[in-house]
Amino acid sequence: MEARRPTWEVDAEIERLYRRNRRLAEEVKKVIWKYADRVRRVKGDGFKVKIMNFCGTHEWTTVHYGIRTLLPDNVELVAGPGCPVCVTPSFIVEHAIRLSLEGVRVYTFGDSFKLPAVRPVKGVRNLAEAKTAGGDVQVVYSFLDALKDVANTRRESVFLAIGFETTAPGYALPLAERLIPRELSILSALRLTPPAARYAIAEADRRGLTPIKGIVAPGHVSAITGAKPWDELSRELKIPTVVSGFEPIDLLISIAEILRMILRGEVGVKVEYRRVVSWEGNREALKAIYRVFEKTDAAWRGIGFIEESGLELRDSYREFDGFDRYGLEKPDRESWVMDNLKGCRCAEVVLGLVKPTDCKFFLKGCSPSKPLGPCMVSFEGTCSIWARFGGYLDLKNL
Ligand code: SF4
Repeated sequence: MEARRPTWEVDAEIERLYRRNRRLAEEVKKVIWKYADRVRRVKGDGFKVKIMNFCGTHEWTTVHYGIRTLLPDNVELVAGPGCPVCVTPSFIVEHAIRLSLEGVRVYTFGDSFKLPAVRPVKGVRNLAEAKTAGGDVQVVYSFLDALKDVANTRRESVFLAIGFETTAPGYALPLAERLIPRELSILSALRLTPPAARYAIAEADRRGLTPIKGIVAPGHVSAITGAKPWDELSRELKIPTVVSGFEPIDLLISIAEILRMILRGEVGVKVEYRRVVSWEGNREALKAIYRVFEKTDAAWRGIGFIEESGLELRDSYREFDGFDRYGLEKPDRESWVMDNLKGCRCAEVVLGLVKPTDCKFFLKGCSPSKPLGPCMVSFEGTCSIWARFGGYLDLKNL
């Protein structure tokens, strides 16, 4: 007997109209091929349209649904820096491990549990191992879960605050209202997405690689920030950008739109994900974020410092800063030591410069069950997505 769908889910028949509408997908594919053909005729055979899908969830959709197999040869889709776990610097993980071993409770999301540190702490390389070694580590679904737990236990605790603009309001709102038990502080590893996109695109140019000609911007981040920051970035870099939803049809429409914009010489942002994203974003969330945090130059794992790309607590909220509370060092540009794991090419994968298969450890020593590098840890990490869903297979030639 067919299992009944929960009452809160949309009827399967209706859902198929959009989510798995093969006819619609084929129509959009035809548009992509038509525009790509025109691009070839206008710009020549050697002109490659390289598009960066910023977000880990877009990479998941791309690989899971085989979107790359639907694209013509002159259109390439590369994954970008949209995995917050992958870019969290090692020194923050090391601090978290040390605190947990010293009896401070460390709260973390599940996808950071196995995030490796470059320099082991007392032989311990990640929070999972720290827990095994007797460290106090709790995996939670949300910051609110940690708040409730600390309110009950009154234990000295820190929250490993990893995330982009999407996650930041979850910390900012309770902090702004001072709903935080005094025993709890945060280690902010919060990062901002447009500066990372700018950096990744510039790095491809610096290395003389095929330049990025369009950006698929993250839909959930933009639900908070609005489309405006992507418009500014797009005009600055003079490449089209489309804020996209996460269904395969969304992604196909966004690619078609970027090709159309290239043909017309248009720059600026278009919002494909209009059902969620506005121009100004979520004003209440943004107000809370910038009441509590300020922008700072921040380190990205294996990459180094990117200007104004992180969020740190303002002075008026420093009492909740775990770095201050426990006297933890935060390197600056001068004292920064690059935190690549030997042989791991995760930083280049994150910047869209190489593919996971360019790493000698991919599925040969590094796998989702035994991750060596950060890109194999999180569900949003490109290496993990390719390993789990076969992004490494050349499906076109099977
Ligand atoms: S396969 Fe593993 S070791 Fe290689 S880049 Fe990816 S995460 Fe790093």
